[in-house]
Amino acid sequence: METTTSVSFADLDIEPRVMQALNDVGYETPSPIQAETIPPLMAGRDVVGLAQTGTGKTAAFAIPVLSKIAGGGKKPRALVLAPTRELALQVAEAFGKYAAHLPDIRVLPIYGGQSYGVQLSGLRRGAQIVVGTPGRVIDHLDKGTLDISELDFLVLDEADEMLTMGFAEDVERILRDTPDSKQVALFSATMPKAIGRLAQKYLKSPVEITVKAKTQTAQNTTQRYLQVSHQRKLDALTRVLEVESFDAMIIFVRTKSATEELAEKLRSRGFSAVAINGDIVQAQRERTIASLRSGSLDILVATDVAARGLDVERISHVVNYDIPHDTESYVHRIGRTGRAGRSGNALLFITPRERHLLRSIEKATRQPITEIGLPSVDDVNAQRVAKFGESITENLGSDNIAMFRRLIENYAQENDVAMADIAAALALETRDGGFLLSPDPPASERSKGPDRPERKQRDGGTNFATYRIAVGKKDRVTPGAIVGAIANEGGLTRGDFGHISIRNDYSLVELPDDLGRETLTLLRGTKISNVPINITRDEGGPRGRSAARNGGGRGGPRDFGGRRGAQPRVAGRGRS
Ligand code: AMP
Repeated sequence: METTTSVSFADLDIEPRVMQALNDVGYETPSPIQAETIPPLMAGRDVVGLAQTGTGKTAAFAIPVLSKIAGGGKKPRALVLAPTRELALQVAEAFGKYAAHLPDIRVLPIYGGQSYGVQLSGLRRGAQIVVGTPGRVIDHLDKGTLDISELDFLVLDEADEMLTMGFAEDVERILRDTPDSKQVALFSATMPKAIGRLAQKYLKSPVEITVKAKTQTAQNTTQRYLQVSHQRKLDALTRVLEVESFDAMIIFVRTKSATEELAEKLRSRGFSAVAINGDIVQAQRERTIASLRSGSLDILVATDVAARGLDVERISHVVNYDIPHDTESYVHRIGRTGRAGRSGNALLFITPRERHLLRSIEKATRQPITEIGLPSVDDVNAQRVAKFGESITENLGSDNIAMFRRLIENYAQENDVAMADIAAALALETRDGGFLLSPDPPASERSKGPDRPERKQRDGGTNFATYRIAVGKKDRVTPGAIVGAIANEGGLTRGDFGHISIRNDYSLVELPDDLGRETLTLLRGTKISNVPINITRDEGGPRGRSAARNGGGRGGPRDFGGRRGAQPRVAGRGRS
């Protein structure tokens, strides 16, 4: 069963510059909702799509909208209504990505909570695409600052959510106030009667699109999932790779570029991993698969397309690092394991926002997916110790041992050193003091004195660091406002927050130690009580001293620190 559609982006009449952007972001094929939605929207029809987040619905409307208004214009030509500011920002960001090669297109998010000033100057400068929450859009219409008289497109995203949140009247008013000639695309995760009525009243014989879930899963494959925030996925994956006993594994990601990036990150952590994607020439792909089959390679990082039809018996594990677009892809992906009557293992990474998709996969596959926790520091360390022992045992059987034994016996006699000390010194050649994960700051870090900011670890295994934000009591901020704004803008969850201390001029917030640069960039623009928070890592100590940390900079979970690549090579386990 093929899961990804047989339609290609090239079949969809997409504006060449939009196509170029899709190439840049690494999308290989349209997701099912895109394959079904883009053609009618390109043909000028209204559309009602039953689709949830994660199906690729944003691109399903953004691609045709951009293709059709690529030339720009002065007034807004497309308005997207979204229920929350978080979604509005996300959609605006997606439009920005797909419009990267359209110099005449400006995208403006407008939502409650942001000052009018920024929005007004954005509107004055001219935005062809406005993405907003209904309340704020109405405010601008009332003030006369948003002109929707030349709108070609109106998109209602997560329409059911908007109605649940009490925006029904606002949405109807906007539908009424926009030109009759506009095209409407309505997306909703569910189809309550109210949505049906809305569609009937305001849409012109819409094409109805539902992405069907027709699925079946192999009985001999165990399915599990791990809930993890977006920025901790890599940490979680490396832990899984260390503790799981596997023959060969395929890790699925969404985009071509993600295959390369993830494979590279895994290699730099000592795992041998190779990427395959639709850009890789056939000969190279075949060589990679031959290595996987023969056992000289154990980890493949792939896109759906690249893994199509892959049949390698020794694939014992499939990891869905990025959740697939639909249940069919899920079934297809996990069908790469459990081949030839062997038992298989499927592990799905899920961010809190994606939890609803888990239920739809379970429903469609009619099989439960069991939750597992992040492998603990103790589990990881037990594996490292066990593998250390195994490598000693293996080397004891080597032909060359006699020569080294002689050299070492001589050394021990001449220097009067115990054999255990010599063995330990030799172990240090390939493994350093960071060999075992430590929940506490490593000794080397503690010994550098009190200036060093404390790194804390809590029950969930999160390493916290302290960040300073430039709002405090004087701005009347509350912990709730801080969590709300940072979680919203940075895509964090409640579990990502440690202690919050509100001082007069500033506040200290504990957040994950390994917040990505991307997250920090997002947060830098965040405002609370209209004050930019200017987030920085707290300098540590009572007053602004050095925040230099062991190893410096970012580069992945420091838990796996020590010498990169010096950990036992996990990928070899399971081979004889
Ligand atoms: P959405 O359902 O719009 O929230 O999209 C979910 C995720 O899928 C986003 O991270 C998109 O960047 C990604 N995505 C959308 N379309 C594609 C595609 N055709 N191929 C790969 N990834 C995609």
